[in-house]
Amino acid sequence: MADCNEGTAQEYRQRALFSTIGADLVLRFFVILKKLLEILIINLFRLIVLIRKRVFYILIFLAVVSLAAVIIYENVKVAATTPVLAEIDGDAMTLNTENTRSGDTGDYYKSETVPPIARTEPATTSETAAEATTTAKPDDKNDISFDSSTETLRIPKGIASVIESQEDDDANKTYVFAYKGTVNSWQSDSLNGEFIKSVSFDADKPKITIKTDKFSAFDITEDNENFYIKAISPRLKYDKIIMIDPGHGGDDYGAIHGGENEKDIAIDIAIDLYNLFKDGNSGIKAYMTRYDDETVDIYDRPETSNSVADMFVSIHCNTFEDDTTIHGVTVYYDPDMTNEIGRFQISNKNFALSLSASVTGELNANNRGIIDDYELVVLDHALIPAALVEVGYMTNAAELKKLADPDYQQSAAKGAYNGIIEAFDEADS
Ligand SMILES: [Zn+2]
Repeated sequence: MADCNEGTAQEYRQRALFSTIGADLVLRFFVILKKLLEILIINLFRLIVLIRKRVFYILIFLAVVSLAAVIIYENVKVAATTPVLAEIDGDAMTLNTENTRSGDTGDYYKSETVPPIARTEPATTSETAAEATTTAKPDDKNDISFDSSTETLRIPKGIASVIESQEDDDANKTYVFAYKGTVNSWQSDSLNGEFIKSVSFDADKPKITIKTDKFSAFDITEDNENFYIKAISPRLKYDKIIMIDPGHGGDDYGAIHGGENEKDIAIDIAIDLYNLFKDGNSGIKAYMTRYDDETVDIYDRPETSNSVADMFVSIHCNTFEDDTTIHGVTVYYDPDMTNEIGRFQISNKNFALSLSASVTGELNANNRGIIDDYELVVLDHALIPAALVEVGYMTNAAELKKLADPDYQQSAAKGAYNGIIEAFDEADS
């Protein structure tokens, strides 16, 4: 068996072929003998009659030979099939070794997760030993790799010749990089970076998709051999960041009046506001605490903002059942909170004043001023300048009709947009 480890895969194939033919002939011969043994047992009574005759001893002899034949056959079968296994083994190793040596990008997934079948017997020649070593330790210069300590994905230039574009889908915390190059498949679903949780390559586009747990920004750098995509905190990339908080959502409808839900009006205005920042040239990066109709914990809203943003604005609608004639814009703020971690220093009161004037002006609505409030969780837990805009009263029939109108919603967003830009301009940084 030791010789199975010598020579090339082609030699294994030849040996396996000859051994298989030999085993076939032996098999056919012994099958016939086996059959004779069966006939012998079935005719046991007749055997007793025969026992004094010479033919009995001949049959006994044939039975012993048959038994021996079965034992020999079993051994031959093992000998014949083992070289076949060795051939598959050899091919797997050759394939893998070639891939890693030539820098072919075809089989990274395989080398990552399906190691070649290990040989059970020690290599008997130096050539085989060298081959085994190369396979066990791939040429990592040509491998895609992820370093969780620096949060960096390294892509060899043999795979990507240029990274062409980056598309941020903050709503799904998914970041897509289009590139020129080839890679058949490479993906990792459980990366343990602070930001990066999974990476996949799609050779058809081709593109790299990175999924994260947190809002993330990326630094793309390169040297002679590699591209590096490093996940960083948005604060390290963007000079100014606003967090837009659409009130309520999901199971929490907020106020419900005249067939309208507060959560729906809030998200419509918030998305308009988000798009103004996205499409405009304010130089302010916007994120949202929710991007669609989903339930978001009230404490998570300020917490997410504290980790990412410079200012926080929450969008709501008001109600006052006792007097349905009341209408207009109200802005709440927490006078106690200090901006402990914000890069921009402006008092909550001044931020609220800026929003109040701007939103009211844009909507041509009744200005109900600013109100200090110590109780609102989203304001009480914000460690950056924060304000909550009640765009109008849902209990006022005329104002509710406006609040549900996309044009009015767009104007409310425009007002908030101008107020936020003003606040950033006014703040000390
Ligand atoms: Zn509300």
